Amino acid sequence: MLQERYDAVIIGSGPGGATMAWKLAQSGRRILLIERGGYLKRERANWDTRAVFAEGRYQADETWSSSSGERFHPGLHYFVGGNSKVYGAALFRLREADFGGIRHPDGLSPEWPVKYDSFEPYYLAAERLFQVRGQRGEDPTEPPASGPYAHPPIRHEPRIQELSDGLAREGLRPFHLPLGGLMDQDENGEATPTSALLRCDPFDGYPSLTNGKADAQVMLVDPALRDHPNLTLLRNATVERLLTDAAGGEVTGVETVIEGRRHVIRGDIVVVACGALSSALLFLRSANDAHPDGLANRSGQVGRNYMRHNNATVLAISRRPNPTEFQKTLGLNDFYHAHDRSPANPHDFPLGHIQMVGKSDGVQIEAEGLPGFLQWLPEKPFGWIAEHSIDFWLTSEDLPRPENRVFYHDGGVRLDVTPTNMAAHALLRETLRRILDKVDIHPHLFDRTLYLGKDTPISGTAHQSGTLVFGEDPAKSVLDLDCRAHGIGNLYVTDASFFPSIGAVNPTLTIIANALRVADRIRERWD
Ligand SMILES: Cc1cc2nc3c(=O)[nH]c(=O)nc-3n(C[C@H](O)[C@H](O)[C@H](O)COP(=O)(O)OP(=O)(O)OC[C@H]3O[C@@H](n4cnc5c(N)ncnc54)[C@H](O)[C@@H]3O)c2cc1C
Repeated sequence: MLQERYDAVIIGSGPGGATMAWKLAQSGRRILLIERGGYLKRERANWDTRAVFAEGRYQADETWSSSSGERFHPGLHYFVGGNSKVYGAALFRLREADFGGIRHPDGLSPEWPVKYDSFEPYYLAAERLFQVRGQRGEDPTEPPASGPYAHPPIRHEPRIQELSDGLAREGLRPFHLPLGGLMDQDENGEATPTSALLRCDPFDGYPSLTNGKADAQVMLVDPALRDHPNLTLLRNATVERLLTDAAGGEVTGVETVIEGRRHVIRGDIVVVACGALSSALLFLRSANDAHPDGLANRSGQVGRNYMRHNNATVLAISRRPNPTEFQKTLGLNDFYHAHDRSPANPHDFPLGHIQMVGKSDGVQIEAEGLPGFLQWLPEKPFGWIAEHSIDFWLTSEDLPRPENRVFYHDGGVRLDVTPTNMAAHALLRETLRRILDKVDIHPHLFDRTLYLGKDTPISGTAHQSGTLVFGEDPAKSVLDLDCRAHGIGNLYVTDASFFPSIGAVNPTLTIIANALRVADRIRERWD
């Protein structure tokens, strides 16, 4: 039953909003978590490649357009748990250097106004909260940590261990991927009979049929609802606008559509965590007399500086079959920084990060078509390729450019993206090809695009960030250092909108850590 007024209203139940709900619920105050989607149904189709990737069964039914007029479906997922219901659960801290300015061929990745040491305790708490499995001391770029991982890493299967050994022989430092995969392992590394996560390939991009992924619903929303009757989850409820007082200094109402009817819900504190793109759109469509260009938009930065990483999923064909069942266990950061910090990288700029992804299957490969160098084969060997493939995910940093932005245009949503730093991304790919050749893997790499969204590249919104940047100066940023909207005393944001830069590792652990940090600031207001 909806009440008139809550101590805090949180919008969006992905990692950013759910972390906030989990933490604020512990105060005993009345907290409302609003989510536009429902629970993602556990069903056979969760692991059906055709349903998930080719048909986009769980993808939001939205069509946006690009600056060239191209229409596309953004890779958004509206469910309790948000995009984490389908994410790959690689849970990295940003590197310490990512908080400073970094020179790239296409420009400067800006410095963060709050540094790594302020985030460190929250990173540790976030790793514990999401039960990250990992091993400190292996990754050459790992930032200082005040405690170990609470769970041992997920062990490599033999083929991936061979790859790891081969990379080490080449003088590189492969490491166990920090993963929010809820696998309990026996002494041989097998998943125990009661382990939530199995050694199986549907992982990245798929919902978890067994709840074996540390997603925001499983780790936060469900336990918080169980333990705290003062927390209410309102599902299938879409926030249309935020209303402010006449002066624009406070949010006074959250206009929400439930079953076609408009309700105004009131919260002393309002936290927006709709995902970086949807949060910026909410700020823009909440424009009023006090905020004519959208909430907190004196700087003109709302919706701008969109970043999403330069990502690629590539398959390498192994000479021998690759029978690995759970492949997402290895990472490689030897090319993460410029040469001075990453000696294996000959360039004086960063290339990026490499990790494994879940194994491709024949259906995925068939849906994407064969790469050119195999087209001549009389029988299309989709299954053969899948059996022999080793699958990598490559990430390079992109830069926050004001012209890369989300906004309303001609009655619809427009997303303008001009890629940056693509030369470094191409070099990372070429570097991987060269290394694999040395470790007995066929040097042909070909792209798999389905995982990134059906119409890559622009629909690849998985790592969306930067659209409501935080900073000290209200003339240049949207949020203050506590992620509170400049000039609006009770409005906070805890998704990846606040990122001034994105580094080249997956963003979600930073979102969770920051939400814990901001929750502390809100709790201090109440104490
Ligand atoms: C295929 C895929 C793989 C990924 N793999 C990884 C990975 O391995 N590691 C990693 O770190 N990250 C990964 N990510 C990214 C990760 O999922 C996101 O960083 C994370 O989910 C962002 O959390 P969030 O809370 O900011 O937003 P979201 O997860 O997007 O959640 C926002 C929520 O707000 C709701 N919402 C939006 N608008 C409204 C509204 N108006 N009213 C009410 N509710 C609303 C949405 O329905 C959604 O539930 C991946 C993403 C995808 C899509």
